[in-house]
Amino acid sequence: MISTTSGSPSLGDGAGEFSFRTRERALERFQKEEFDLLIVGGGITGAATARDAVSRGLRVALIERKDYAFGTSSRSSKLIHGGLRYLQKFELKLVFEALAERSFFLKVMPHRVKSLSFYYPIYREGLVRPTLLSFGLWLYDILALFRSPEFHSRYSSKKLLAEIPFLKEEGLLTGFKFYDATMMDDVLAVETIRAAHEKGAATANYIEAVEPLWNGDRIVGFKAKDQVAGKNYEIRASQTVVCAGPWTDKVGVKLSNNWKQWLNPSKGVHLVFDHKRIPVPGTVVMSHPKDGRISFVVPRTDFGTGVVIVGTTDSPTPDDPDRAEVVADDVHYLMNLLNLSFPKLRLTAQDIVSAYVGVRPLVDDQSGEKVGVSLQKVSREHQIEEGPGGTVIVAGGKYTTHRKMAEEVVDFALKTWKKEFKKTGKYPLPQNIGTSHTKLPLSANLTQEETEKAVQSAQENKIQLPQELLERYGADALRICQMQSKDQTRPDPAAFPMLQSQLRYAIQKEMVIHLEDFYLRRVPLFLSRSDGGLPWAEALARVWAAERGLDEKEAASELERLKAELENRSAWKKTLKS
Ligand SMILES: Cc1cc2nc3c(=O)[nH]c(=O)nc-3n(C[C@H](O)[C@H](O)[C@H](O)COP(=O)(O)OP(=O)(O)OC[C@H]3O[C@@H](n4cnc5c(N)ncnc54)[C@H](O)[C@@H]3O)c2cc1C
Repeated sequence: MISTTSGSPSLGDGAGEFSFRTRERALERFQKEEFDLLIVGGGITGAATARDAVSRGLRVALIERKDYAFGTSSRSSKLIHGGLRYLQKFELKLVFEALAERSFFLKVMPHRVKSLSFYYPIYREGLVRPTLLSFGLWLYDILALFRSPEFHSRYSSKKLLAEIPFLKEEGLLTGFKFYDATMMDDVLAVETIRAAHEKGAATANYIEAVEPLWNGDRIVGFKAKDQVAGKNYEIRASQTVVCAGPWTDKVGVKLSNNWKQWLNPSKGVHLVFDHKRIPVPGTVVMSHPKDGRISFVVPRTDFGTGVVIVGTTDSPTPDDPDRAEVVADDVHYLMNLLNLSFPKLRLTAQDIVSAYVGVRPLVDDQSGEKVGVSLQKVSREHQIEEGPGGTVIVAGGKYTTHRKMAEEVVDFALKTWKKEFKKTGKYPLPQNIGTSHTKLPLSANLTQEETEKAVQSAQENKIQLPQELLERYGADALRICQMQSKDQTRPDPAAFPMLQSQLRYAIQKEMVIHLEDFYLRRVPLFLSRSDGGLPWAEALARVWAAERGLDEKEAASELERLKAELENRSAWKKTLKS
């Protein structure tokens, strides 16, 4: 049995709290209020749509079936990028827009979005021509209006090998170095939802939209089920926006018996290694010699003690995204590519620290044969359409352009709504709808100014602020240090210098409901450690229960839940052995 200790003082109402208590208040609001917009799905699309809508003065509710960012939004390649590959098809507008967003994020969210160099080696037997790539990179820099962190440059094979000595030498002709950026997808999604909440949106995780509420021929909200307490709710809103990513069809069939399948999903697997094992100085682009498919080897020195994320694959997956899994073929594909690119490293599957799978929404060609057209190939990155009962359905897109996409979604929702009002005279639009206002940083705590103030205050109070915490939490690093538990029985894992306080913070300010939310989507504990952070689980379950005011029995059952989830996420290891 786990014994629990008392929790740290809560941040209290109005002090930036975003916790299980905030969630309870949202549930109360769901019962009492009528909203303008109900958003189904708490990935980055739903998050950004909520933030955009609430910034225009709309009354917004957002519900997420599992944890925020549970879906694709915690399983991407974690890049903010223009998308060099779109240049192959001269999709200049798309690239221009993505590069403008990249500049915006680099400037406004320097804690979250960081520049990163990319090395693109060119081989004699490869499918990429140096002149064409050189032209593409010029265009890339021009479309970025020369606001790239650095201008691209050409590398001789000698220079490439000097910087990446373990790169395959044979057939290496030349190469290029250019720049894009990285981010923390899960954290960014949670922060975007928190920012929407701070502006007045009612948002709750672990609430599933189960059945639409109809009024005549219009959908006016959803019956929803609380996955924690089992209670049912009726959430009423003039307009519903479905941002369910790969689950779009699963929500779609609830909207209409005649729902026509939108998606034919494909999965993308990433493998994670210790950075010391693959010590790349920047991202290395690997091009498959047979099919020319591009995969990345992305160093993340900000994840744990440093990892590289390798991916992604693109292969068929069951229609139900919940059943997507990492299988031996995915691992073999990426291992093979890695060993072609870095033969001297002699990597084996034993070197893999962790793996994850995300599902991409592929647009079904509607032929009935389910031959999907990959969004890698279609020109539009996302699709926004009017769905049954006046709903708005959105799927696809890129993390990089989530702000722009959200603006488009809200514009579209307002247009559809206006049309309905003109036709029926019902559901008048609210007065004084403002314009989108999402140019501010997500959280004041992350601004340079606030962080500097926190550093100064820490110095005055003789508090040591670990760099890892400053980078991750900005000014809130100080708050975390002040929350540090005294009942520490085991030293913290490397690079997670105050794990118990980080959990307390995540419960109070990042709406962690279950321990797995913390392990998988608030800190890269599972992703960056081959032990998955399990040795700390019992202590953390204790902290979790204390913060939530729960007893030992609940701490023990939460611990079991966490273990089961982490085991499930590591099931691919068994498929390799058999
Ligand atoms: C392998 C891969 C790598 C990628 N890499 C990048 C990258 O590096 N850079 C980039 O810019 N883009 C990248 N993308 C694209 C980007 O990750 C996605 O566009 C983005 O995360 C999609 O977010 P979303 O909110 O639409 O979907 P999701 O994040 O999947 O969110 C949908 C949410 O809806 C919830 N939901 C479903 N049904 C219900 C219901 N009934 N009730 C309530 N909630 C429900 C789900 O639980 C889920 O959390 C990548 C995509 C993939 C697949």
